[in-house]
Amino acid sequence: MNRISIKLAAYFFIAVLIMEVFLMVYLHQNILEERTDEEYARLVASGANHRDVLEDNYSNTTIEHIALMESDGDREVVIINRQGIIASSSDDHLLIEQSLKHVRNLAANTEGIVIADWKSSPYIVSVHPYHIASGPSGYVVMYQSTEPIKLLVNKLNLHFGLAGVTSFVVLFIIYAILSKLLTRPLIRMKEATEKLSNGDFNVSLPVVGNDELGELSGSIQKLATDLERLKTERNEFLASIAHELSTPLTYLIGYSTIAMRQGLNEQERQHYLSIIVEESNRMKDLVKNLLDLAKMDETTFTVSKELFWTRPFFEDMQRLVEPSFNMKNVQLAVRCDVDFQILADPLRLEQIVLNLLDNALKYSAEETEVTLEVYQKKEKTVIRVTDVGMGIPSEELAFIFEKLYRVEKSRSRTFGGTGIGLAVVKELVEAHGGSIEVESTLGKGSRFTVTL
Ligand code: ADP
Repeated sequence: MNRISIKLAAYFFIAVLIMEVFLMVYLHQNILEERTDEEYARLVASGANHRDVLEDNYSNTTIEHIALMESDGDREVVIINRQGIIASSSDDHLLIEQSLKHVRNLAANTEGIVIADWKSSPYIVSVHPYHIASGPSGYVVMYQSTEPIKLLVNKLNLHFGLAGVTSFVVLFIIYAILSKLLTRPLIRMKEATEKLSNGDFNVSLPVVGNDELGELSGSIQKLATDLERLKTERNEFLASIAHELSTPLTYLIGYSTIAMRQGLNEQERQHYLSIIVEESNRMKDLVKNLLDLAKMDETTFTVSKELFWTRPFFEDMQRLVEPSFNMKNVQLAVRCDVDFQILADPLRLEQIVLNLLDNALKYSAEETEVTLEVYQKKEKTVIRVTDVGMGIPSEELAFIFEKLYRVEKSRSRTFGGTGIGLAVVKELVEAHGGSIEVESTLGKGSRFTVTL
């Protein structure tokens, strides 16, 4: 029982079976009881009727008449007085004999059904005492053959049996449809997740509607696509890290070997040593970025907020980045018209804004402008960095905040990105309880809006 289809079918069968058996037994019993009650009532009514006629007109003719009336059909009458049997509609001697037995031990005024057991007895029997004021008294004994009731029971059993078989067939058809509709997609999903766990992310699941199964299938499909993308990104990232690290290392080894040579003058040694320091710093920055990323994965970094004025803070930042903007001949306009206080971690905020400005500069052409706006809106601080650079394709916008994600790999090779910056920004903004949004048009520029 380890296949879901079998389990499902078993539960389904058992549940419907219990319900069906219960309903059938209930119906069967009810129909039978009603039918036998009708027979009893009819027998008692005709017995009482004969008795009334007898009491009203007690004569031999009446007695013969009564016996004659019941001589056809499956009902019999036997009329008895103190001496014995005086009339009967039947020639069956055994039946006539039994009549005496039936009335012998009865209490004086017993009336009604005396034998009701239609299952084992050939007749149901009712007795009706009569009293003639100045004459005899006795019983009208009525017999009704139980054959019609038994026939009815047989018919009922046949019908219920047929209904049972039919409903089993219907159940089986429902099971087949259910297992197709329900279990097939489930089995496919199971196979897909097995493939995923074996490292094969090339999974394609059919769309199975808008219900929970459809959603689950969609989630698995998305998971597979994400995993596939992450795998490629990771490999590319590792390759680029290796490349990024190997370049400064080559310089370090090369220049330190040269710096160790005999016969170099002080000026030359200084020159080589400064290159070594520069390259070591580059490596340090890269490793710091990687560490930041690793810390964020473990969420071990902390944010210590303090109140500070925005205008001096952003003016300092402008001074800090201006040299690199000037070098590329890109104009940086800082708009922080109203000075106000902000509650944030100044170091982390600097990291956020520097990353955004760094990207804006990196992806802008020469002689363009980048704008940094800072203002308050509904008690929140909005920091907005706008450039008129190369922009981001709309289908990639959803991913740029993911770790290691880079738009067009060739771009990053040209611009030297590693796909970490925006992931770091997003984590830092969220650690402040804020949010970040991006609007971008390919070829026209981008705008990043941080709300804290
Ligand atoms: P990277 O170090 O590669 O710049 P980021 O995480 O900072 O990594 O950015 C992710 C991707 O988003 C980059 O590959 C880049 O193509 C794109 N991007 C980020 N900022 C901008 C921008 N201002 N203009 C155009 N593209 C951008």
